[in-house]
Amino acid sequence: MARKKTYQALTGMDDIFGKDLEIFRRIENISRAIANFYNFKEIITPIIEEEELFKKGTGENTDIIQKETYSFSTKGKEKVILRPEFTPSIVRAYIQNGMEVLPKPVKLWTFGPLFRHEKPQKGRKRQFFQFNFEVLGTKNAIMDALLIQLFSNILYELGVEKWRVNVNSIGCQKCRPTFLRKLKSYYTSKVKSLCPDCKKRLISNPLRVLDCKEEKCQRIKKFSPQILNYLCEECHNHFKVFLEFIDELEIPYVINPYLVRGLDYYEKTVFEFIPEGKELASQNALIGGGRYNKLVEMLGGRLTFAVGGAGGVERIIEEIKEKKINKKSDIIEKKIDFNETPKVFLVQLGELAKKRSLKIIEEFKKSRIKIEENLEKDNLKSQLSLASQKKVKYTLILGQQECVNNEIIIRNMENGIQEIVPQQDLIREIKKRLK
Ligand code: AMP
Repeated sequence: MARKKTYQALTGMDDIFGKDLEIFRRIENISRAIANFYNFKEIITPIIEEEELFKKGTGENTDIIQKETYSFSTKGKEKVILRPEFTPSIVRAYIQNGMEVLPKPVKLWTFGPLFRHEKPQKGRKRQFFQFNFEVLGTKNAIMDALLIQLFSNILYELGVEKWRVNVNSIGCQKCRPTFLRKLKSYYTSKVKSLCPDCKKRLISNPLRVLDCKEEKCQRIKKFSPQILNYLCEECHNHFKVFLEFIDELEIPYVINPYLVRGLDYYEKTVFEFIPEGKELASQNALIGGGRYNKLVEMLGGRLTFAVGGAGGVERIIEEIKEKKINKKSDIIEKKIDFNETPKVFLVQLGELAKKRSLKIIEEFKKSRIKIEENLEKDNLKSQLSLASQKKVKYTLILGQQECVNNEIIIRNMENGIQEIVPQQDLIREIKKRLK
């Protein structure tokens, strides 16, 4: 009798079930709850898109587009692609669906599968899932910091607590060319010792030589020029302010002057979450992202500054299993999803208050009370009018004076009565009022 043929899933594509699926759902649910807490709106975009969107968006010279796409022509002769990342899709959706006219920042998040035709290995799949967050219409470095805080919250809620964020600034179109010239000239003098991939990168995408994990290229990198010495004033200030914010949040980070990430559109801040003990591994980042200020315009929209990032679900599952993490999160146990209209709005005035507000938002998160803010805005009137539009019960007002006195104003939005309370009593006072 002829043997029956059985089938295998395609290389690099896994079935997800049992324990893995349980952790997978936990990651999805915690991402959703944290997204709701920070007032991100969910969006689901198609898995297949026009190929050109990614050629232009992700960049022709990236490894993803050069080597890793699942792209093909349909019977209708359309050139399509299985999305290899989310950002170009979200930017397309943002422009296509008229979100450019919405009040800024527009915060969007999504969760789903992506496809990259890579050599499958530990931490590298051909189909993998990400949670992805984008903030569109944001210039202030506080949003870069807030995004990192959001990602660290997802990890903490999952019990993944041992990691450091690698941060860097890769400059902008003004200052990067000078750095690239220096970098190219340094690497050209060492070209004979480079791996074959880096020889090509030196011509097509020189920044990426810094990303190479080959040992001989790593040795050369040690003495190469560092972008941080070439930043223009604007990029330098952005990075400085960003670092002050993540210092304030006590996020464990290291400045890695060689972190460049694999995508063309980044400028200024880039970051990656690296688990402890895997600093030297090649496929090690759990989460990565950065600022992209030109992408919306490049894809046909208006000039819109933005920052975003994504976490790899499979890599986080691996990390949880490897480290035998078994944290119970009340987000899961008590089904807390923060899917409610906030009753409190935080108004901040001045740099000191901006910094302090990050901590206050965290205290609210820990106490599982939803709070809304607009950290992009600086003046009282516009923030108060936002608070009224949102119909919150209480607005917190934090100015320079309150910061110095460690106090905060609670304004009852129904009767306009304002009270000053010590910051350390804030949560208790709010809980009392919301009862
Ligand atoms: P990227 O979209 O390349 O910025 O990657 C963001 C995160 O997605 C990484 O930090 C990984 O956790 C995850 N990731 C990227 N590529 C893969 C892959 N081929 N397989 C599994 N996870 C991946």
